[in-house]
Amino acid sequence: MNLGLWLERSAVSFAARPALVRGGRVEADYAEFHRRAAALARCLRQRGVEPGGRVAIFARNCIEYLVAFYGVWLAGAAVVPINAKLHPREAAWIIGNSGAKLGFVTPGSGLRKEVDIPLVDVTGNGFAEMTAGEGMAAEPRGGDDICWLFYTSGTTGRPKGVRISHSMVLATSLAYPVDVDPVTCDDAALYSAPMSHGAGIYAGIHIRMGAQHIVPLSGGFDEDEVLELSAAHGSASMFMAPTMVRRLLDRAKERDMRGDGIKTIVYGGGPMYVADIVEAVDWFGPKFVQIYGQGECPMAITAMSREQVADRGHPRWRERLGSVGRAQSVVEVAIGDAGGGLLASGESGEIMVRGQPVMPDYWQNDAATAKTFAGGWLLTGDVGRMDADGLVTLVDRSKDLIISGGTNIYPREVEEALLEHGAVREVSVVGRASAEWGEDVVAFVVLGEGVQADAAALDAHCLANIARFKRPKDYFFVGELPKNNYGKVLKTELRKRLEEMADG
Ligand code: AMP
Repeated sequence: MNLGLWLERSAVSFAARPALVRGGRVEADYAEFHRRAAALARCLRQRGVEPGGRVAIFARNCIEYLVAFYGVWLAGAAVVPINAKLHPREAAWIIGNSGAKLGFVTPGSGLRKEVDIPLVDVTGNGFAEMTAGEGMAAEPRGGDDICWLFYTSGTTGRPKGVRISHSMVLATSLAYPVDVDPVTCDDAALYSAPMSHGAGIYAGIHIRMGAQHIVPLSGGFDEDEVLELSAAHGSASMFMAPTMVRRLLDRAKERDMRGDGIKTIVYGGGPMYVADIVEAVDWFGPKFVQIYGQGECPMAITAMSREQVADRGHPRWRERLGSVGRAQSVVEVAIGDAGGGLLASGESGEIMVRGQPVMPDYWQNDAATAKTFAGGWLLTGDVGRMDADGLVTLVDRSKDLIISGGTNIYPREVEEALLEHGAVREVSVVGRASAEWGEDVVAFVVLGEGVQADAAALDAHCLANIARFKRPKDYFFVGELPKNNYGKVLKTELRKRLEEMADG
C-alpha cells in the first residue's frame, strides 16, 4: 500500500490535532497537513512527475520536508532526500544518478548552478502555491514500488542508491512500536537528526499515531534547542547518532538539565561506546533505546530495548550494552561466512539479514546488488557475532579489521579499552601498513579538555586491560577526528594520513 494512506487516514482520525510544529509554534493540524500534501501531489502530477518518478529534496530540516515527502508519495512518486551538508556538486551527482525531474531546496543550497532541473525553494511563494490548490487521493502503490532512493553515506567511494519501497518503510514503521517505543497522539517526534536519513523514516509511524512533528528552527542539531523544545513540549522522541548523544550529554551537564520532556532517544547509526551510554543513562535516566540498521535495511536489523539499556541489575549488563541487541520483529538475522553459509553462535562473521524491510536492489547498479546478496541474505558488510540468546555484537565493519602478524584485531575493542582511560575523550584505531607484521595498530586520540596523558601512560593502560598484541604501536594526539556528515569517523581519511606520513 501507499505510505501516504496513513496521512490520509490521520487527517480524519486526528483532524484537529496539532501535526506540524515549527520551533515551538503549531503551523498545521492533521487536516491541514494532509490538505497541503494532497495539493502538492496533484501539482506535481500536473508538472509531469509520474508515478515511479523521482523528486529530490536537498534541504535542511523543516516542516515542509514532511509535506514534500507525503506530496510525492500521494502522487505515487519517490523522494530522493539528500543530506543537506553535502557539497552542492555531490548533491548534483546524486540528482543526476537518480534521474529526479524536480528538486525541493532550502535557501543557500547552492544547487542552482549545478543542475538544470527546476528547483523550488520550500520557504518561498512557489512552494506555498503548490500546496494551496485542490488535492488528489493516494495513487495505488504496492510490491516493490519505490518511495525513497536513499544514497548510502558510505565512508568510501561514490554513494549507491538504495531502492526503498513503501512496504519496506511500512515494515520498519510497524516494528517501531513493537521493538523500539510505543507511540501515542500525545507524543512528539523531534527532528534533531537529518530527515534525509533515519529520522525521516521514523516520521511514518508518528503520522499513523497522530503524534506531533516538531522541527527545530535551526534546521539541524543544536543541543540547547533540543533540551528546550523537549522541556516545553514533553513526551518528545528523537533519533541521534552516538556523537550527538555525547554532545547533548555534555551540554545538559553544563546546564544542569536532566532532559525533562525527553521521552526517548533512539541511538544508532554508528558504534556507541559503553562508557558514553552508561554516563548518558546515569544522567538522563532510562530514556535510551538502541537500533542497528543500514540504508539497505533501514533502521530495522536489531534493537535493544529501553529496559535492557538501563538494566544495571542484569549480570551481563555491560556486555549487553556493548552489543546492538536482538533481531527486530520483522527480520531474521544470522552470522554468515560471506558465501551465505551460516556460522554457529559465538563465531564472528558477516552479519546477514532478510525480511520485509530489506531492499530489493541498488538503483541501476546490478554489480553492487550481486555482491550484496548471498543465498537470499543481505550481506551488511558488518562483522559480528551472535550469542546463544540472539544478542548481536558488532565487532567492526569488515574493512576495518586489522590483521597484524596473522592475528585479527578488531579496532573497536582497542577503542573501548582506551576510552576507559580518564584522559581520553575520543579515539579511532586503524591499521598501518607494516613490512614486518602486515599491519600495525595505531591510535588517533583526542584528549579531554585540561587533562594530560602521553603515549607511555596509554600504553600502560592498554597493557593492563587488553592483550599485548592489540596495543597500538603508535599514538597520534589530534584536536579532533575527521567525521562524515553523519558524525561517523572517517577511517579512510586517517589511513590516508598514515600513508602520507610513510611517504614523507
Ligand atoms: P548507513 O547505511 O549510513 O545508515 O550506515 C549503516 C552502518 O552504520 C551499518 O552498516 C553499521 O556499520 C553502522 N551502524 C548502524 N547502527 C549501528 C549501531 N547501533 N552500532 C554500531 N554501528 C552501527
